[in-house]
Amino acid sequence: MIIILLGPPGSGKGTSSSVICKKHNLFPLSTGDVLRERIKQPDEFGKHIAKLMSNGELISDEIINQLVKEIVESDKMKSEYDGILFDGYPRTVQQAEFLEKLLADNNQKVNHILLFNIADDAIVKRIVSRRVDRKTGNVYNLISNPPPENTDLELYQRADDKEEVILHRLEVYKKQTEPLIDFYRKNGVVGEVDATLPVEKMIVTANKILAE
Ligand code: AMP
Repeated sequence: MIIILLGPPGSGKGTSSSVICKKHNLFPLSTGDVLRERIKQPDEFGKHIAKLMSNGELISDEIINQLVKEIVESDKMKSEYDGILFDGYPRTVQQAEFLEKLLADNNQKVNHILLFNIADDAIVKRIVSRRVDRKTGNVYNLISNPPPENTDLELYQRADDKEEVILHRLEVYKKQTEPLIDFYRKNGVVGEVDATLPVEKMIVTANKILAE
């Protein structure tokens, strides 16, 4: 099964991803996570990507598409998982077109799109409170999912979670990624999730859509 999570940054895609992937034995492919791992290498390429990310700009389609192709066609993917859940990819029409062809070449197709709906002001509020633990990568929210108090967490705020960057990321989303909603609506695979709901309720809706 191939699922795509579509929605603005901070709409709960990442949180929902792990639950859905466990239930359906899907590989969680977050291009943002792959890039965050890559920029730990401080070479020229890593620095180039890090700069774009911390400014809330998109990485070029060519780089992203190649990275996704390598993962989709890897032996591990084919032998260990029953599909892929894409989180944060595709983000442009060009990426969506590339993915259609890549999946067709591998005898697959997009089965479901989950579209996470939430207003901009709610997103900004949510993202500025997001913190990540450097050691485990666990994501917390100072308001809705506070970290445990008596542990030695090393919390930090992602550079692209600062308010001015979030506003830019939302602009980029509207311009580059929102057109994908129509692109996929034509295929009749888009199911909508109210992303203002608590995670458990979002998951219930998502599971209903996936069972259709
Ligand atoms: P995310 O964790 O999905 O919010 O992604 C964080 C950042 O990584 C984005 O703001 C972009 O700079 C970059 N990125 C992630 N996925 C993509 C993609 N599919 N295309 C271009 N840039 C991406």
